[in-house]
Amino acid sequence: MKQGSVFEQRDCVCQNCGCVIHERYVPFIDRWIKDKCECIKKAEQEEELRREKTRKEFEIIENKRLSGIEPRYRSASFENYITTPENEKAHKNAMVYAKKFSSLEKKGTGLIFTGNTGSGKTHLACALANKLLDEGVKVRFITFSDLMQSINGARDYGATENALIKELQRCRLLIIDDIGTQAAAEKSKSVLFAILDKRINNFRPTIFTSNVTSLDEIKNRFNEQIYDRIKGNCYKIEILCSSHRKL
Ligand SMILES: [Zn+2]
Repeated sequence: MKQGSVFEQRDCVCQNCGCVIHERYVPFIDRWIKDKCECIKKAEQEEELRREKTRKEFEIIENKRLSGIEPRYRSASFENYITTPENEKAHKNAMVYAKKFSSLEKKGTGLIFTGNTGSGKTHLACALANKLLDEGVKVRFITFSDLMQSINGARDYGATENALIKELQRCRLLIIDDIGTQAAAEKSKSVLFAILDKRINNFRPTIFTSNVTSLDEIKNRFNEQIYDRIKGNCYKIEILCSSHRKL
Protein backbone atom coordinates (compact mmCIF):
# COMPACT_ATOMS: atom_id res chain seq x y z
CA MET A 1 0.00 0.00 0.00
CA LYS A 2 1.27 3.50 -0.90
CA GLN A 3 2.49 5.43 2.08
CA GLY A 4 0.48 8.62 2.59
CA SER A 5 1.40 11.98 4.02
CA VAL A 6 0.07 13.42 7.27
CA PHE A 7 -3.67 14.22 7.12
CA GLU A 8 -3.98 12.68 3.71
CA GLN A 9 -7.36 11.09 3.10
CA ARG A 10 -8.92 9.06 0.37
CA ASP A 11 -12.18 7.36 -0.47
CA CYS A 12 -12.78 3.73 0.25
CA VAL A 13 -15.75 1.40 0.47
CA CYS A 14 -17.42 0.25 3.69
CA GLN A 15 -17.05 -3.54 3.83
CA ASN A 16 -20.33 -3.71 5.67
CA CYS A 17 -22.79 -1.71 3.56
CA GLY A 18 -20.82 -0.84 0.45
CA CYS A 19 -21.16 2.91 0.68
CA VAL A 20 -18.23 5.29 0.15
CA ILE A 21 -16.40 6.47 3.25
CA HIS A 22 -13.01 8.07 3.89
CA GLU A 23 -9.84 6.64 5.28
CA ARG A 24 -7.01 8.75 6.69
CA TYR A 25 -3.32 8.14 6.85
CA VAL A 26 -1.85 8.01 10.35
CA PRO A 27 1.93 8.37 10.07
CA PHE A 28 2.75 7.31 13.66
CA ILE A 29 1.54 3.83 12.99
CA ASP A 30 2.05 3.98 9.25
CA ARG A 31 -1.51 2.88 8.52
CA TRP A 32 -4.68 4.01 6.78
CA ILE A 33 -7.57 4.15 9.23
CA LYS A 34 -11.12 4.03 7.95
CA ASP A 35 -13.69 6.53 9.26
CA LYS A 36 -16.55 4.89 11.08
CA CYS A 37 -19.35 4.37 8.58
CA GLU A 38 -22.88 5.55 9.45
CA CYS A 39 -24.03 1.93 9.27
CA ILE A 40 -21.57 0.98 12.04
CA LYS A 41 -22.51 4.02 14.16
CA LYS A 42 -26.17 3.08 13.81
CA ALA A 43 -25.50 -0.55 14.76
CA GLU A 44 -23.50 0.59 17.81
CA GLN A 45 -26.29 2.93 18.93
CA GLU A 46 -28.83 0.15 18.54
CA GLU A 47 -26.63 -2.20 20.54
CA GLU A 48 -26.25 0.45 23.28
CA LEU A 49 -30.05 0.90 23.40
CA ARG A 50 -30.53 -2.87 23.59
CA ARG A 51 -28.05 -3.09 26.48
CA GLU A 52 -29.73 -0.18 28.27
CA LYS A 53 -33.14 -1.82 27.81
CA THR A 54 -31.85 -5.13 29.20
CA ARG A 55 -30.24 -3.30 32.13
CA LYS A 56 -33.53 -1.53 32.92
CA GLU A 57 -35.52 -4.76 32.62
CA PHE A 58 -33.11 -6.50 34.98
CA GLU A 59 -33.33 -3.56 37.41
CA ILE A 60 -37.15 -3.74 37.36
CA ILE A 61 -37.05 -7.49 38.13
CA GLU A 62 -34.60 -6.84 40.98
CA ASN A 63 -36.68 -3.96 42.35
CA LYS A 64 -39.76 -6.19 42.32
CA ARG A 65 -37.90 -9.01 44.06
CA LEU A 66 -36.68 -6.68 46.80
CA SER A 67 -39.89 -4.64 47.10
CA GLY A 68 -41.32 -6.62 50.01
CA ILE A 69 -44.71 -6.87 48.30
CA GLU A 70 -46.31 -10.08 49.49
CA PRO A 71 -47.12 -12.80 46.90
CA ARG A 72 -50.85 -12.19 47.22
CA TYR A 73 -50.43 -8.62 46.01
CA ARG A 74 -47.71 -9.06 43.39
CA SER A 75 -50.27 -9.12 40.61
CA ALA A 76 -52.50 -6.42 42.11
CA SER A 77 -53.26 -3.82 39.49
CA PHE A 78 -55.66 -0.97 38.85
CA GLU A 79 -57.28 -3.19 36.22
CA ASN A 80 -58.02 -6.11 38.53
CA TYR A 81 -59.29 -3.93 41.38
CA ILE A 82 -63.01 -4.53 41.78
CA THR A 83 -64.64 -1.12 41.46
CA THR A 84 -68.01 -0.20 42.88
CA PRO A 85 -69.76 3.19 42.81
CA GLU A 86 -68.45 3.73 46.37
CA ASN A 87 -64.76 3.07 45.73
CA GLU A 88 -64.59 4.42 42.19
CA LYS A 89 -63.26 7.79 43.34
CA ALA A 90 -60.49 6.21 45.42
CA HIS A 91 -59.52 4.02 42.47
CA LYS A 92 -59.40 7.04 40.16
CA ASN A 93 -57.40 9.16 42.61
CA ALA A 94 -54.85 6.39 43.11
CA MET A 95 -54.40 6.20 39.32
CA VAL A 96 -53.98 9.97 39.14
CA TYR A 97 -51.29 9.77 41.84
CA ALA A 98 -49.43 7.07 39.88
CA LYS A 99 -49.67 9.14 36.71
CA LYS A 100 -48.41 12.31 38.38
CA PHE A 101 -45.84 10.55 40.54
CA SER A 102 -42.78 12.23 39.06
CA SER A 103 -44.08 15.72 39.85
CA LEU A 104 -45.60 14.76 43.23
CA GLU A 105 -42.35 13.06 44.16
CA LYS A 106 -40.45 16.34 43.84
CA LYS A 107 -42.58 17.75 46.65
CA GLY A 108 -42.42 14.54 48.67
CA THR A 109 -46.20 14.18 48.50
CA GLY A 110 -47.52 10.82 49.63
CA LEU A 111 -50.90 9.27 50.30
CA ILE A 112 -52.86 7.71 53.09
CA PHE A 113 -55.50 5.19 52.07
CA THR A 114 -58.13 4.80 54.73
CA GLY A 115 -60.92 2.27 54.84
CA ASN A 116 -62.28 -0.73 56.69
CA THR A 117 -60.53 -4.07 56.76
CA GLY A 118 -61.24 -5.69 53.41
CA SER A 119 -62.01 -2.42 51.63
CA GLY A 120 -59.16 -3.15 49.25
CA LYS A 121 -56.77 -0.43 50.43
CA THR A 122 -53.76 -2.75 50.37
CA HIS A 123 -54.73 -3.89 46.87
CA LEU A 124 -54.95 -0.28 45.70
CA ALA A 125 -51.64 0.66 47.36
CA CYS A 126 -49.96 -2.38 45.80
CA ALA A 127 -51.56 -1.69 42.39
CA LEU A 128 -49.93 1.71 42.59
CA ALA A 129 -46.63 0.17 43.71
CA ASN A 130 -46.69 -2.42 40.90
CA LYS A 131 -47.42 0.25 38.31
CA LEU A 132 -44.51 2.41 39.49
CA LEU A 133 -42.22 -0.63 39.77
CA ASP A 134 -42.97 -1.38 36.11
CA GLU A 135 -41.92 2.17 35.31
CA GLY A 136 -38.59 1.67 37.06
CA VAL A 137 -39.35 3.30 40.41
CA LYS A 138 -37.78 1.59 43.40
CA VAL A 139 -40.64 0.92 45.80
CA ARG A 140 -40.36 -0.63 49.25
CA PHE A 141 -43.43 -2.15 50.89
CA ILE A 142 -43.67 -3.18 54.53
CA THR A 143 -46.54 -3.80 56.88
CA PHE A 144 -46.35 -1.80 60.07
CA SER A 145 -46.46 -4.99 62.15
CA ASP A 146 -43.56 -6.52 60.16
CA LEU A 147 -41.59 -3.34 60.65
CA MET A 148 -42.11 -3.49 64.39
CA GLN A 149 -41.39 -7.22 64.51
CA SER A 150 -38.11 -6.72 62.64
CA ILE A 151 -37.13 -3.88 64.94
CA ASN A 152 -38.03 -5.74 68.11
CA GLY A 153 -36.62 -9.04 66.89
CA ALA A 154 -33.23 -7.67 65.81
CA ARG A 155 -30.72 -9.89 67.62
CA ASP A 156 -27.68 -7.76 67.03
CA TYR A 157 -29.50 -4.87 68.59
CA GLY A 158 -28.62 -1.76 66.69
CA ALA A 159 -27.08 -3.02 63.47
CA THR A 160 -30.01 -4.80 61.78
CA GLU A 161 -32.41 -2.29 63.21
CA ASN A 162 -30.45 0.63 61.82
CA ALA A 163 -29.92 -1.02 58.44
CA LEU A 164 -33.68 -1.51 58.04
CA ILE A 165 -34.51 2.00 59.22
CA LYS A 166 -31.91 3.47 56.86
CA GLU A 167 -33.25 1.43 53.95
CA LEU A 168 -36.77 2.65 54.64
CA GLN A 169 -35.58 6.22 55.02
CA ARG A 170 -33.80 6.16 51.68
CA CYS A 171 -35.99 4.23 49.24
CA ARG A 172 -37.66 6.27 46.53
CA LEU A 173 -41.21 5.34 47.50
CA LEU A 174 -42.11 3.71 50.80
CA ILE A 175 -45.43 2.03 51.51
CA ILE A 176 -46.29 1.28 55.13
CA ASP A 177 -49.32 -0.95 55.27
CA ASP A 178 -51.85 -0.97 58.07
CA ILE A 179 -50.70 1.66 60.51
CA GLY A 180 -52.63 2.66 63.57
CA THR A 181 -54.58 -0.52 64.15
CA GLN A 182 -54.05 0.03 67.84
CA ALA A 183 -52.30 2.41 70.21
CA ALA A 184 -48.60 2.28 69.38
CA ALA A 185 -45.81 1.53 71.85
CA GLU A 186 -43.23 4.25 72.48
CA LYS A 187 -40.65 2.44 70.40
CA SER A 188 -43.02 2.19 67.43
CA LYS A 189 -43.61 5.91 67.63
CA SER A 190 -39.95 6.79 67.68
CA VAL A 191 -39.11 4.39 64.81
CA LEU A 192 -41.97 5.66 62.65
CA PHE A 193 -41.04 9.25 63.40
CA ALA A 194 -37.36 8.64 62.56
CA ILE A 195 -38.34 7.15 59.19
CA LEU A 196 -40.96 9.75 58.35
CA ASP A 197 -39.00 12.79 59.41
CA LYS A 198 -35.97 11.81 57.36
CA ARG A 199 -38.09 11.03 54.30
CA ILE A 200 -40.02 14.28 54.49
CA ASN A 201 -36.85 16.34 54.91
CA ASN A 202 -35.50 14.72 51.75
CA PHE A 203 -38.75 15.01 49.74
CA ARG A 204 -39.27 11.27 49.63
CA PRO A 205 -42.93 10.28 49.46
CA THR A 206 -44.55 7.73 51.74
CA ILE A 207 -47.85 5.95 51.25
CA PHE A 208 -49.81 4.56 54.17
CA THR A 209 -52.82 2.36 54.50
CA SER A 210 -54.86 2.48 57.66
CA ASN A 211 -58.25 1.46 58.97
CA VAL A 212 -58.68 4.74 60.85
CA THR A 213 -61.82 6.60 59.85
CA SER A 214 -60.40 9.98 60.74
CA LEU A 215 -56.78 11.15 60.77
CA ASP A 216 -57.37 12.36 64.33
CA GLU A 217 -57.14 8.72 65.32
CA ILE A 218 -53.51 8.77 64.15
CA LYS A 219 -52.93 11.51 66.68
CA ASN A 220 -54.42 9.37 69.43
CA ARG A 221 -52.67 6.14 68.45
CA PHE A 222 -49.28 7.70 67.71
CA ASN A 223 -48.70 11.33 68.59
CA GLU A 224 -49.05 14.89 67.36
CA GLN A 225 -45.67 14.92 65.57
CA ILE A 226 -46.47 11.83 63.46
CA TYR A 227 -50.00 13.09 62.81
CA ASP A 228 -48.63 16.47 61.61
CA ARG A 229 -46.20 14.86 59.23
CA ILE A 230 -48.76 12.51 57.71
CA LYS A 231 -51.46 15.18 57.47
CA GLY A 232 -49.04 17.75 56.06
CA ASN A 233 -47.49 15.51 53.41
CA CYS A 234 -50.10 12.98 52.36
CA TYR A 235 -53.33 13.25 50.43
CA LYS A 236 -56.05 11.20 52.03
CA ILE A 237 -57.84 8.67 49.84
CA GLU A 238 -60.84 7.31 51.62
CA ILE A 239 -62.15 3.99 50.37
CA LEU A 240 -65.86 3.86 50.88
CA CYS A 241 -66.77 0.28 50.26
CA SER A 242 -68.18 -2.84 51.73
CA SER A 243 -65.63 -5.56 52.30
CA HIS A 244 -64.11 -7.01 49.12
CA ARG A 245 -63.51 -10.28 50.88
CA LYS A 246 -67.22 -10.76 51.15
CA LEU A 247 -67.69 -10.44 47.39
ZN1 LIG B 1 -21.30 1.07 6.05
